[in-house]
Amino acid sequence: MEKYQQLKERMAEIMDVTMAAALLNWDQQTQMPPAGAEARAQQLGTLSKIAHQMHVADETGRLIEAAAADLDGADYDSDEAAFVRVARRDYEQATRLPPEFVAEFSRVTALAHEVWAKARAENRFEDFRPSLEKIFDLARQAAEYLGYTDHIYDALLDQYEPGMKTAHVRAIFDELKKDLVPLVHAISERLDAVDDVCLHQEFDEDKQRDFTYEVIQKFGYDFNRGRVDRTVHPFATNFSINDVRITTRYDRTFLNPALFGTLHETGHALYELGVDPALERTPLANGSSLGVHESQSRLWENLVGRSRGFWKHFYPKLQQVFPTPLGGVSLDTFYGAINKVQPSLIRVEADEVTYNLHIMLRFELEQEILEGKVKIAELPEIWKARMQEYLGVTPPTDALGVLQDVHWSSGLIGYFATYALGNLMSVQLWDKALADAPDIPSQIERGEFDALREWLRQNVHRHGRKYMPDELMRRVTGEGIQSRSYMRYLKRKYGEIYGL
Ligand code: ZN
Repeated sequence: MEKYQQLKERMAEIMDVTMAAALLNWDQQTQMPPAGAEARAQQLGTLSKIAHQMHVADETGRLIEAAAADLDGADYDSDEAAFVRVARRDYEQATRLPPEFVAEFSRVTALAHEVWAKARAENRFEDFRPSLEKIFDLARQAAEYLGYTDHIYDALLDQYEPGMKTAHVRAIFDELKKDLVPLVHAISERLDAVDDVCLHQEFDEDKQRDFTYEVIQKFGYDFNRGRVDRTVHPFATNFSINDVRITTRYDRTFLNPALFGTLHETGHALYELGVDPALERTPLANGSSLGVHESQSRLWENLVGRSRGFWKHFYPKLQQVFPTPLGGVSLDTFYGAINKVQPSLIRVEADEVTYNLHIMLRFELEQEILEGKVKIAELPEIWKARMQEYLGVTPPTDALGVLQDVHWSSGLIGYFATYALGNLMSVQLWDKALADAPDIPSQIERGEFDALREWLRQNVHRHGRKYMPDELMRRVTGEGIQSRSYMRYLKRKYGEIYGL
């Protein structure tokens, strides 16, 4: 086991450098004065270069193969076998991209980010077009370096959702779209059935914070192992299994961003806090994939936080905190308001029903661009036409259309699908949790979450990155990722709310 121990020590040191960079990044977004940005960019660049060089060094590759030989015959489920499996996979991915290409990629995307921000602010797609063309060219090259057998998109998707194939995701989404588009159209006929004006009132920020903190502590978020800070764009980050932080933002005239945003990030955090402590300082101490991560945030945000049972317990408390805005608002009205469906232009503001259609649009367009079927210059018009087809709304401007997301400017192509896959997995896991522990809904109605959190910890969290997403779902639920459960959930919940 000597080589295995050496590999473990080497990977632990790489993790230390990576986590130090993550901490600098957290600081940049939460505490750093603006003038620190230039120095911080250099510090982050240096640390990520050191981590990358340590990772792709020949010595790492030799240790991985020697450790694998050491462990020959080890149980697939053991920490040791999983460690070598994941280390080898990461190493192969990291060494396939030549250093000059990685440097070029970061240079182009750093510049493109500024160009995009300005183009969006000024609603000038034409200004961003050359950068976007360049980025898709680089994505094509990255896919060639990374390698694929069936579809060029497989290589890109695999970076964010390991093991998932384009054809598989497409089949899942096609099935989903078949049922989802008619549901959205049916709800669109009855939009007046629900209004959310009660959420758009004056809500004191400190009171929002206190209430939200009380809820997430009941979820199991441990302030001894984490903290909450303010940012413009909320996120969750971790530097250790025992240091998992989240951020949030407050809107004094709208309850949702802080409340549901914090429940969402807490779902991400509970995943990281639930990883087996034995995996600390290893590459296994992280979520299985972005999709599985999103399944956890969406589960706590939506299946728990937007459920009637949850609010049976918490709504009277919320009314006590906000007697003026909510005192005269019934539980039914509030429950409808937080679940209001509104086909809209902006993905990040979309509700549970329409959200996945925003994702499918991006997933399809990315492939069509890579296949050469859609030219970047044609994107704005195609975007508008497809928004009309899927959601029944047409963006009046490109800022509200093709320019809205930051992802492409950062070179994140193949990423969007993970959001929708996360939604689908959240319901599959929820259904299985309730089948195994039927007491969960009545616990939630009492404001108790131990059974749910423990089930998730046992079945999902503690494994960290041991299993790939579809593999994890098969082990836990008995089947791979599918859309049936999600559609059943939407139809039941929204059928009731909208009287369909
Ligand atoms: Zn998320």
